Amino acid sequence: MEAEFLAWLRGRLPAVKPPIDIGVGDDAAVIACAADSRIAVTTDMLSDGVDFRLGEVDPRRVGRKALAVNLSDLAAMAAQPIATFVSLLLPRSGGTALARELYEGLLPLAEEFSAPVVGGDTNAWDGPLAISVTALGRAGPQGVFVRSGARPGDAILVTGEFGGSILAHQFDFTPRVREALWLREHAKVHAAMDVSDGLTLDLSRLCVESGSGAELELSRIPISSHARRLVAVEQLSLSPLQHALNDGEDFELLLAVDAADAARLVADQPLESLFGVRLTQIGRVINERGLWGIDAAGTRSPLEPGGFQHRFD
Ligand SMILES: [Mg+2]
Repeated sequence: MEAEFLAWLRGRLPAVKPPIDIGVGDDAAVIACAADSRIAVTTDMLSDGVDFRLGEVDPRRVGRKALAVNLSDLAAMAAQPIATFVSLLLPRSGGTALARELYEGLLPLAEEFSAPVVGGDTNAWDGPLAISVTALGRAGPQGVFVRSGARPGDAILVTGEFGGSILAHQFDFTPRVREALWLREHAKVHAAMDVSDGLTLDLSRLCVESGSGAELELSRIPISSHARRLVAVEQLSLSPLQHALNDGEDFELLLAVDAADAARLVADQPLESLFGVRLTQIGRVINERGLWGIDAAGTRSPLEPGGFQHRFD
């Protein structure tokens, strides 16, 4: 299990010390190059048959996504992208053409977010494609966002909408870098992460790191039209709300924000006029551990975190 392995790894690794500022456990590691200059570093690997199926998706979208998930992790840390490294493990047959397509997909995004590809590696083997991207970002003078700073009384805000990403959003999402950098300058953000594995699963991780819990007002969760469409086509017993809470790959920001700042942000919606992205308050951070859902009738009940985890023995 990925969660168990990560817990073992965090215990097995020595404590971080300078120049490493933040090690394994957040959305990116942070290296302090000098007291006033810190670099966030993150890496993510996607592979054929696990994260996508090459027969079913244009390799350009795969290349774009491989970079976008890393930019989303830099956004989660409020780090300005500065450079990326791309490593490809290509199938021998058709590998060159595939590599070109992957790059054609990711290079426009690298350009858009000023995250130039400056290195990497290209290998071939008799197995399926794997693409690993490493991204570096610069922390601002206000510091980085971390998962561990949420305080009871903080408002829980999210960007955008949730659920049904499998229909398209999982490849075509815009990493919330600009939004995070704006928030870094204009609000007291106590904790943040990007929602990659599922809203409730990732919120539970943020709460664990912060030593707190959370109450969600279920009627306020912004549900994407994709989630509603998925319910219509799948005809499963899942509701659009369940898709929004548990689907994963939304790549929106999840933020614990000072309550007064949050009220101002939700009323003024500055990110909507700047970037076309809405902020929604979905709940608040509480002292009591665990996740709690409050339905429209005001009934409060425990919320089981759900989402995607890599499974291995
Ligand atoms: Mg992340």
